[in-house]
Amino acid sequence: MMNPERETIPFDVLFVGAGPASLAGAIRLKQLADANGRELEIAVIEKGSEVGAHAVSGAILDPCALKHLLPDFLDRGFPFEAVVRWDALYYLTSDKALRAPMLPRYLHNGGNYVISLSRFTRWLGTLAEEAGINVFCGFAGKEVLYDETGKRVIGVRTGDKGLDKEGRPKTNFEQGADLTAEVTIFGEGARGSLFKDLAVRMGLETNRMPQVYETGIKEVIELPEPGVFSADGPNVMHFLGDPLGPFRAGGGFLYEMGEKRIGIGYLTALGYTEPWMDPYEMLLRFKCHPFIRERISSGKVIEQGARTVSVGGFYTIPKLAMNGALVIGASAGIHDVLGLKGIHAAMYSGMWAAEAAFEALQSGDTSESGLSAYPKAFESSRLRSEIFEGRNTTAALAKRNPVRYLFLGAQYVSAGKGLRDPMWLHADATTLEPVNRRPKPSERPPTSPDGVYMVDKLTGVYLSKTHHREDQPCHLIVHDRKLCETTCAERYGNPCTRFCPAQVYEMHEHPETGRKELRLNPSNCLHCKTCDIKDPFGNITWTCPEGGEGPEYRLV
Ligand code: SF4
Repeated sequence: MMNPERETIPFDVLFVGAGPASLAGAIRLKQLADANGRELEIAVIEKGSEVGAHAVSGAILDPCALKHLLPDFLDRGFPFEAVVRWDALYYLTSDKALRAPMLPRYLHNGGNYVISLSRFTRWLGTLAEEAGINVFCGFAGKEVLYDETGKRVIGVRTGDKGLDKEGRPKTNFEQGADLTAEVTIFGEGARGSLFKDLAVRMGLETNRMPQVYETGIKEVIELPEPGVFSADGPNVMHFLGDPLGPFRAGGGFLYEMGEKRIGIGYLTALGYTEPWMDPYEMLLRFKCHPFIRERISSGKVIEQGARTVSVGGFYTIPKLAMNGALVIGASAGIHDVLGLKGIHAAMYSGMWAAEAAFEALQSGDTSESGLSAYPKAFESSRLRSEIFEGRNTTAALAKRNPVRYLFLGAQYVSAGKGLRDPMWLHADATTLEPVNRRPKPSERPPTSPDGVYMVDKLTGVYLSKTHHREDQPCHLIVHDRKLCETTCAERYGNPCTRFCPAQVYEMHEHPETGRKELRLNPSNCLHCKTCDIKDPFGNITWTCPEGGEGPEYRLV
């Protein structure tokens, strides 16, 4: 129910989240409106303080969707860090890097661009504003609005600002507004908090496999001298193997970003079973590998960021259209798992959603069937075929024994069908095994952080420029703290203290009782969503803090 005192602002189309999917969609919609002489009120809301502030990704851009959207993109100042010459794939043992003699066909990125997703989305945001689209930054979507039947989406309520820790209004209190729209398009990125509600309420994931994720931590490193990549060699390197080893999913990358900057990152699939796993430690171990260290250890980390990526693939894609709304990009799990790329896929999905929304507005039918041009466009696209080919890849990689390579090989030669189709995925929250069955192996710890090339979690938070006002309701809801201190501590050793890349969760001994108790540092939160996904009891719910808070990425 809407509060009668709350401001209501109507739009024709509202995009939630200013990532590449939404921005490409908003620009496409404006192009269609202009070409057809139709006045449309289009809005994009973004929880970050500016467009790009929360955008972090590898990132290699296949420019196919961008060429479609803006054929003159190069003349319009498209920001890129390097043109990919060619890729190399390595398998890391504990001390060697073995170069693959050939690349899988989908890993050829020659001619694509290495970009900073933060810079790229900021540029798209500027183009959107210049085109007359309303881009509202610092506004977090807090709640989906439905009509009185509960079967139609009518917009989004933005979060209140200026509440104290107990949720009482302070003197600078600003009530959130109800942004209504004929069509609301959700492009919140992986594990969108509004999408979670929407999916349950509208049954979007019925008969789908559970979405699964990887947590990626990326750094931009500045080097004193150029020369990591020779002018005629590969400037994009992908790594498998150490430190995750041969039977865990994930891997690392090194990308050229201009002459003296390197993008380095490590992704850990969240389907791991070991309660001691720490994705941040995997990044540090990767950076300590002799092959990596030798090339870039003279450098200094100048920015760091973390985010989860949806990697479940084709069988996890939800229903894309419903009455009054569409889901796009990583929110819908639209990601090219085989090519390790999602930006062009997200942009295409946003553009198809925009075309469907325009058609629906023209015909006056914004029901699920009136918006069906979007799922149809996806179904008949080349992108769908690419995503379909990788439909069983993540499930094969989740096998923790040599049989995974048999599955992968069979899929490679059979356009994805492999030995079993479909192969089932298991939700990441269900895969942990108890500490007594999975003790931590005694490995050499990674080199201690020196604050320059190797930075610890808190320095990483500092380098992400994350900030949250302390005196506000905690945006991380821990439903049952007793569970953390008893069952979770005994069975899993409180994995949240490790899987969070920002040291938000800490267990402290109570000075009087000696009992361990949970302490939260929500102001460190990087909005990566790992805790919402991986907690084995579903005991943590990530909600949006006040709009305008969180990381302030500029380069990642
Ligand atoms: Fe990521 Fe959760 Fe930690 Fe925030 S609290 S950084 S969302 S794991």
